[in-house]
Parts: sequence; C-alpha cells; structure tokens
Amino acid sequence: MSWQPDYSQRIFRQRNVRPRGVAASAFDLRAPGTYNLGLYVAEGSSLHARNTRGVLVVHIVVSFVFENTRFGDWLPGQSEAFIHQYRRIIHRVWSDKYPLTTDSRFISMDTVQVSVHLETIDVTGQEERDESTTHWTLWVRKVANWAGSWTRGSSRHGLSDSGDVQANRFQPGTPNQTQQRAVAHEFGHMLGLRDEYSNSTGGVLDNPHHLRDFNSVMNTGEAVAERHYAPFAEWVSLKWRSTDHGERAQAAGQPILFRVAGAVDTSNAGL
Ligand SMILES: [Zn+2]
Repeated sequence: MSWQPDYSQRIFRQRNVRPRGVAASAFDLRAPGTYNLGLYVAEGSSLHARNTRGVLVVHIVVSFVFENTRFGDWLPGQSEAFIHQYRRIIHRVWSDKYPLTTDSRFISMDTVQVSVHLETIDVTGQEERDESTTHWTLWVRKVANWAGSWTRGSSRHGLSDSGDVQANRFQPGTPNQTQQRAVAHEFGHMLGLRDEYSNSTGGVLDNPHHLRDFNSVMNTGEAVAERHYAPFAEWVSLKWRSTDHGERAQAAGQPILFRVAGAVDTSNAGL
C-alpha cells in the first residue's frame, strides 16, 4: 500500500517536534526540534466516512557539508551521488514500514501510514548558513575506508563519511553477521531512537532490551521494528486526545490509543 496525503485535509501539524522520552539517552535531544510532523487524510479518503485512512508526513530537512580529507577530494558529481543514495536508503529503510492503527470508536480514522519526506540541501562552502531552516546538518568526510560516524541531538549535527552509503559488517567473525549502511542507523538517532548494540565487552551501551536483535537498524542490521515507530504512534494518539473526540473518549474511560501494527512497544523510544 502507498497512500498520498491530501494536503487540503490537514488534521494536525507540529513544527520542530522533539521526541519525548529520549532525553535520558546518550543522545540528549536538547535541541528545539528534530523534524516536523503533519497528519493528513489520505487522498480518496474522508474524515466523514468510516475507516478513514491517514498519512503521517515526517518532514525532515537535512543540510550537507562535504569535506575533503587527506584521502581525497570530493570530485564533481560525487557529492550529488552521495545525496542521491542517502535519500534512496532513508526512504527505503524508514518509510511506510508499519501502519499506525486504533480501534477507538470515537474517531473515524483507524489506519495511518507513515511517510518520510526528506528535504536535502548541499550547503558546502556557504560561509553564512541559515541553520534555522534546517533540522540537521551532516558533515560528510571523504575517506579511504569506513571510519565511524555519529549523530548528536544536542546540536543537531552529525558526522558521516563517504563509506556510509555502502553496506558494512559490524560484527566480523560472529555467526550473526549482519550488514548495515551507516546512514540508515544514524537516521534512527535523528528520529530520537537509541542504540541497541552492546559495547565492546558485551555490556549495555544505551538500551538494555535488544542486544541480540542483530538485524535491527539500531543494532547492526537495517530492519526497522515496530518499536521504532512508537514515537509516531504516540504523537498521533496525543494529538487526537486533545480534540473533542479525544475528550469524549477519555470521559468514557477509553482514551484514544494508536498502536504500531497493533502493538505497543516503547522499549526503544523510552516513552
Ligand atoms: Zn548509534
């Protein structure tokens, strides 16, 4: 399924959303916000009918600064190719993985598709950059081999390298070898999610719950799990609860709750 948002039928919108619950993690999101969220009725659907379909648009603006290193310069076309691959990877890994669903009888919208809308800007060489219009700024270094990358929520900056759009193995020699393109993992941090892999001695690094879920994108693979959409489901629930419908549901003792593919799992988001 792939639904398009009907932008003339906007239900809720919030700019610069700061994911709840993640401030206690290693990636302390003190920044004013990391993405915009907008809930729309899907094209061809109606709020005044039954089984209304919705589309939650996750709008995230990422600026890129390409840096030359002693390993080489970014040649003409290479930075454009990096952004092209980045967009393709993020969209394929993160968009439209699970429906957000509710069985509430107080609203007609029962299913919401999550759609990542990524806006990318190359700001290399621009001395005076207006960062107020950007959620994240990524420095991308030219390297010979993959060199490690990070994402820092407090300043909304990240460091990547030219190898981050290639698949790498992070557990050589183990029976659970998985591959990951690092940009897919770092994007999870940009959404406010925590690491799930263990530290070098097998201990808890950030999140104690999923140390052996090697396929997870927040571990060493690229699979997005239901729990990784929990912040989106929570936002949709909270917004609906603030409406008259939500207050009626609350009064009846049945607060509106959106789940991710029918499940509630906040073990990454820490909600
Ligand atoms: Zn990480």
